[in-house]
Amino acid sequence: MANAVLPASSDYDYLFRILLIGDSGVGKSCLLMRFADDTYSDNFVATIGVDFRIRTMLLDGKKAKAQIWDTAGQERFRTICASYYRGAHGIIVTFDLTDRESFHNVRHWLEEIEKYAQPGINRMLVGNKCDMASKRAVTYDEARELADELGLHYLETSAKHAHNVDEAFTQMAKEIKDRVSTEVP
Ligand code: GDP
Ligand code: MG
Repeated sequence: MANAVLPASSDYDYLFRILLIGDSGVGKSCLLMRFADDTYSDNFVATIGVDFRIRTMLLDGKKAKAQIWDTAGQERFRTICASYYRGAHGIIVTFDLTDRESFHNVRHWLEEIEKYAQPGINRMLVGNKCDMASKRAVTYDEARELADELGLHYLETSAKHAHNVDEAFTQMAKEIKDRVSTEVP
């Protein structure tokens, strides 16, 4: 997969590929549905392999087309996903704020990035399901601490309540744009 960001067509100025990774059930598909279609469903449908959605956004007057790849968390799909790591400009690692195990596994997902992604790509940590306050199992401070240690930005989202979802994807796209704009081709 080519890693070019620059215009291949006149309907956009940038094309970004963003990959969503994290344990199964943390809400990756719901975050993508919320961002791409502004819809949400409580029905759990396991993602098979990979799926993608496109949304165009305006960044500093430029049209950025984001192609967002949604992956399945299961190990058995790992080899499929490895090739998507290589084509990604940015990767969002998601965990579930009500599930400590998904938080512990963030380090594992970071190792996958180290192994398969291009060096220097943008990375972000997202703690999803912040609407479930009474079931919260990971505090903001400890997640923030881990993110700082790993050198990632951290945001808490709710796909259900549409909280910080646009912000997460837009921030990721901005960071990619800033990076590629200063890189020598
Ligand atoms: P994925 O395996 O990471 O793609 O997870 P899904 O997007 O399929 O979501 C798994 C389950 O979590 C589904 O039952 C969703 O309804 C639920 N879920 C996802 N996002 C949220 C959220 O922001 N808040 C709440 N309360 N539930 C969510
Ligand atoms: Mg899914």
